[in-house]
Amino acid sequence: MTVDGAALPGYDLAYQGKVRDLHVPEGATLETADVVLMVASDRVSAFDHALEPPIPGKGATLTAMTTWWLRTLGDEAQLAGDHGPGGDALARIPDAVAGRALLVRRLDMLPVECVVRGRITGSGLLEYRETGAISGVALPEGLQDGDALPEPIFTPAWKAPKGQHDENIPFDRVVELVGSEAAETLRSRSLEVFARGAAIAASKGLVLADTKLEFGRDATGAIVLADEVLTSDSSRYWDAEALEAGRVESFDKQIVRDWLLSEAEAGRWDRSGTPPVLPAAIVERTAARYAELLARLLG
Ligand code: ATP
Ligand code: MG
Repeated sequence: MTVDGAALPGYDLAYQGKVRDLHVPEGATLETADVVLMVASDRVSAFDHALEPPIPGKGATLTAMTTWWLRTLGDEAQLAGDHGPGGDALARIPDAVAGRALLVRRLDMLPVECVVRGRITGSGLLEYRETGAISGVALPEGLQDGDALPEPIFTPAWKAPKGQHDENIPFDRVVELVGSEAAETLRSRSLEVFARGAAIAASKGLVLADTKLEFGRDATGAIVLADEVLTSDSSRYWDAEALEAGRVESFDKQIVRDWLLSEAEAGRWDRSGTPPVLPAAIVERTAARYAELLARLLG
């Protein structure tokens, strides 16, 4: 049963993203609420399109990844209340969304997607081929798809309002958007989360190729790591052993992206209109890869 988009007991639906729904306590708004119930649906998006059908279990898997990473990094300020067994936060999560919802402190989100790349691929590779740089960060010549960068780089994007496409921006634009002190904080915290995440992933035979983080300010103005953290929706994870052998085995929605690209190449999708419906085999493989990544992280 899916309850996505429906009101939950005790909450009002305040926002629907492509993947997640934000609910606030009844009567509150996203501006006034103290907490937000962040519900991860099984919806999947790629190239900024919401796709059909949903990936069974994806919302729960992503939620478990975020919780695990917040705890593992010791960076749990976003979590409201106690998410441990029998905790007060769990008591406030409606049964209908149990397992795929987090009760988080409501933050004033900063409009920057804090992307960190340790490897070059995807949209970053395209930008590099055109300009020799990503988000204004100049890179050495001759990099190929999947190559490790000399060091991880911060390549921010402006988080466009719903319906518009996010846009890579140089660091100077981040300074204009949030001020120089906050911009420095976003860059250093993002690089730190990535470095620690990549090291932990490596200990599990995984290469963390890149990730996207978001931060928000709490009521005191402090900058808090927010949103989903190092999930397979927000990050690229590759199998380290396969990579050694020259193959990229993804644990993320690359499976979906690759399939969509093959449909586009075959002339069955124009890349802008409603994308084709995902075949059952792609849905199953994606669900299996997401579950496998969670098991690898937890194991
Ligand atoms: P898109 O559909 O392009 O992905 P989106 O990122 O807005 O847009 P989701 O990721 O599905 O969509 O929605 C999650 C939303 O919740 C994001 O807008 C994110 O900025 C916001 N958010 C995450 N953590 C918090 C928080 N602690 N307080 C308030 N808002 C938050
Ligand atoms: Mg998002």
